[in-house]
Amino acid sequence: MSLNAESTAFRSALEVIRAVEPRVADAIGAELADQRESLKLIASENYASPATLLAMGNWFSDKYAEGTVGRRFYAGCQNVDTVEALAAEHARELFGASHAYVQPHSGIDANLVAFWAILADRVESPALKKAQVRQVNDLTEADWFALRRELGNQRMLGMSLDAGGHLTHGFRPNISGKMFDQRSYGTDPATGLVDYDKVAEAAREFKPLILVAGYSAYPRKVNFRIMREIADSVGATFMVDMAHFAGLVAGKVFTGDFDPVPHAHIVTTTTHKSLRGPRGGMVLCGPELADQVDRGCPMVLGGPLPHVMAAKAVALAEARRPDFADYAQRIVDNAQALAEGLTRRGAKLVTGGTDNHLVLIDVTGYGLTGRQAEQALLDSGIVTNRNSVPQDPNGAWYTSGIRIGTPALTSRGLGVAEMDQTAELIHTVLSQTTSGESKAKYVLDPALADKVSKQANELLAGFPLYPAVDLG
Ligand code: PLP
Repeated sequence: MSLNAESTAFRSALEVIRAVEPRVADAIGAELADQRESLKLIASENYASPATLLAMGNWFSDKYAEGTVGRRFYAGCQNVDTVEALAAEHARELFGASHAYVQPHSGIDANLVAFWAILADRVESPALKKAQVRQVNDLTEADWFALRRELGNQRMLGMSLDAGGHLTHGFRPNISGKMFDQRSYGTDPATGLVDYDKVAEAAREFKPLILVAGYSAYPRKVNFRIMREIADSVGATFMVDMAHFAGLVAGKVFTGDFDPVPHAHIVTTTTHKSLRGPRGGMVLCGPELADQVDRGCPMVLGGPLPHVMAAKAVALAEARRPDFADYAQRIVDNAQALAEGLTRRGAKLVTGGTDNHLVLIDVTGYGLTGRQAEQALLDSGIVTNRNSVPQDPNGAWYTSGIRIGTPALTSRGLGVAEMDQTAELIHTVLSQTTSGESKAKYVLDPALADKVSKQANELLAGFPLYPAVDLG
């Protein structure tokens, strides 16, 4: 029997790798086996298509291509130009953006590019002008000093970490919290929702240069029209980090006031979460910031990864197909079914539910910390991650929450009925786990963990991961 193209491609690749370092080939094979067996509910993970994965394993990896299309610091970039231009075109078309920069190696890198572009656009200084025209090597110590003084003490207002914001939105230990004079907005303690009046009040008092919206662990939509009005009222640049929900924007689940692209001055994203592409980042903006954004490499970023840009082009082409919109809708339907199933069984959810791809369980309702709950679920074959909840009594390390997301299981084909079964498994583990003598220790009957693990496997068996890939 002849093998299909995917199986042949991956088998051949592993054979070539095995001839050099068999342990790497084994680890790659083991990773597929592990992913096939785990009930993956990590909200930021997904499964890229075989075409996206295969686009990364080639000689584009050997090419230096600093600069951007048509403005390279290296010769011989014509084929890199082709894939970078294609990825950017797909991104512009998919999101209706006038400019797309597809080089960032990750979401954090995309945010750094955006911060630099906003600062460089807004801050007038002779030293900065030199830096902008790429005469960075000509900057004297005095220039750098002046530049630091001009750039320093700029203000950023972003969502706080415990309300669901990301480290790069001004969290103090992160570079964003050190680069910027930072303040954060939280959520309403009673509802768990963003209180736009409070955000407006904070903006009026603080007068930030940048107002950031976007989140890693907020289970609701954000009204970007209102946020833009707030930014405009204080002359701030409005930045949205849509890393988590880019797939829902691409799939037209988030439209109108909830689509950040028409409302924000600049939008950043990852490409590997709900968007289901390769590990990487991207920046979208209008013509005003395009020039600064395109200076991302080498100003902020190391050399571009052309093999990943090739994979971004493939994944973005996939996201432009009609079936991606159906996928995006199923992500939300599944998250809502999971939230409903958990609530019905007595779980306490932050905001009481979800209208995106993630659900945040407040596990203090089960008498546990996030750390205990995460580990007990892992023992039972359910992969989640612990996360702070608003005003978290257990801090950012132990936490009081478990974040669960549906993009990956939806890619496997699980639907609403399976989400109810998943809710049952989660609730069974959490309600049978008891707190131990520290915030990390817990007691869970190993026989129960084993039983749930088997049930999780049975649930997954009907939805094989990469069904076309047979490694033999
Ligand atoms: N922005 C948000 C909102 C995120 O949730 C994350 C990652 O979880 C990032 C940025 C960073 O992405 P990366 O890990 O690709 O740097």
